[in-house]
Amino acid sequence: MYAAKGLGLAANQVGVLSRVFVLDLSQKEENAPRQPLFFLNPEIVEGEGELYEEEGCLSIPGYSAKVKRLARVLVRALDREGKPFEMELEGLGARAVQHELDHLNGVLYVDHLSALKRKLFLRWWKKHRPRD
Ligand SMILES: [Zn+2]
Repeated sequence: MYAAKGLGLAANQVGVLSRVFVLDLSQKEENAPRQPLFFLNPEIVEGEGELYEEEGCLSIPGYSAKVKRLARVLVRALDREGKPFEMELEGLGARAVQHELDHLNGVLYVDHLSALKRKLFLRWWKKHRPRD
């Protein structure tokens, strides 16, 4: 995640089948200290507002598109020690949580695109997907 300058990473993106993701919003700023947040069994218990901003994904390098998301979310999860916590996030943080939670549910941000934009994405993907 840090090597690719990502803000978040879900366990299943690296082949670990656990409902865990990490976020480090400090990585938006150059040379900020690393402050990874750990979310185990996360769920969004409340959300409101709407954002429509550009998103990318470490699993689809080189592509980005605008996605509709909740502007504010209240997340409930367990921390690294298994202790429950709740966190309110807005803006970028809210978008990142929804993006990573989607990963845990097998959903990519391109799954939220309109039929036409999804078609354009799939055309792009055919040309750019990594090959073995
Ligand atoms: Zn992603």
